[in-house]
Amino acid sequence: MTNKRPHPPLVAGNWKMHLSSEEAARLASQTAKGALDAPGAELVLIPPFTLLHAVKRVVSDTPVQLGAQNMHWEDKGAYTGEVSALMVKDAGCRYVVLGHSERRHLFGETDAAVNKKTKAALRHGLTPIFCLGETLEERDTGRTFERLGSQFAAGLEGLDVGSVAKVVLAYEPVWAIGTGKTASPQQAQEVHGFLRRSLSERYGKPAADCAIILYGGSVKPDNAFSLFREKDIDGFLVGGASLEAASFLQIAKEALRAHKEKR
Ligand code: PEP
Repeated sequence: MTNKRPHPPLVAGNWKMHLSSEEAARLASQTAKGALDAPGAELVLIPPFTLLHAVKRVVSDTPVQLGAQNMHWEDKGAYTGEVSALMVKDAGCRYVVLGHSERRHLFGETDAAVNKKTKAALRHGLTPIFCLGETLEERDTGRTFERLGSQFAAGLEGLDVGSVAKVVLAYEPVWAIGTGKTASPQQAQEVHGFLRRSLSERYGKPAADCAIILYGGSVKPDNAFSLFREKDIDGFLVGGASLEAASFLQIAKEALRAHKEKR
């Protein structure tokens, strides 16, 4: 637990179910080249499983890291259509997204499953990007913190302080993902502050201070600066805007600019 706040930005691009291998290699190459102009930001590309090898080939000698969008909690076995932490690691990933709202809402992923996946990822040395967020209905009916609190407690259940310190949290309000609606910097900071306090109460202040908490939900070059300027926002999980190298890199640069102001 040595990370000092404010953290330099971590900016991860979730490519979701997009791109051919040729398009992926091109985008990865443009991103890796452009990353030289954003020194100090950690950039992570998160392609679909089938594109991991193609992207790995392109970024392997660059500082750009690789992540997977999901994984199963078992190491191997009769789980048709699934991939394990070992496979994801073998493909060159350092990160894995777990509990993304699209997995929770479209594919019925439960808090218990996210918890098992988080433990399996940590067991194999992967860094989980553990997503949590409220729906619009939950926000409108004043249940945002109740929902986040229960996802937080259930997702991290059974982890000790040392393990929690290795988890990256990603606050992604469901109503902001892929909708063009972004949480205001104040709304995002309110939740990030809540998550950091929750970490502190449960795991102690050093763990809370070193935790990396990302914001995700329609992050674009024109809102990245004001979001990152908030005290408890350490980076972004970016969907749509990561599919173009220019916008993804500009988000990283805006975050770096805001980071300088925070120091
Ligand atoms: C996401 O996929 O995690 C995401 C935040 O998507 P978008 O940036 O498109 O809202």
